[in-house]
Amino acid sequence: MGKRIIKNLEEVLCGIKDHPIWELKPLFPEIHFPKRKGVYSLNYFILCPFLKEKHPSFCFDVRTQLFSCFSCGLHGDIIDFYVRLKDKTFFASVIRLAKFFKIKLVWDKEDNTNTKQR
Ligand SMILES: [Zn+2]
Repeated sequence: MGKRIIKNLEEVLCGIKDHPIWELKPLFPEIHFPKRKGVYSLNYFILCPFLKEKHPSFCFDVRTQLFSCFSCGLHGDIIDFYVRLKDKTFFASVIRLAKFFKIKLVWDKEDNTNTKQR
């Protein structure tokens, strides 16, 4: 079996990163995203999912679409968020998120020239 390759990876990554992190809400029922309408036009904080803390220090920057935690130092984009919280590989996370956002993955056919060589 050849390694599966996503042909349009660049496009898929851009497509995923176009979405703000709070849109992942349905995938993270355990995370208390703010309920207030309009809050997503501002930076917002949640309790760090990795630490027991009383005051939220896990910040989403609405402008840059990045998160950073002032308690544990974790930071990144929407894909990093999924990777870290679901404990998945980057590749598995990209596939899952592409599905979630209905972004089409174009798979490269198995590379027969290499794998069929004997
Ligand atoms: Zn943290």
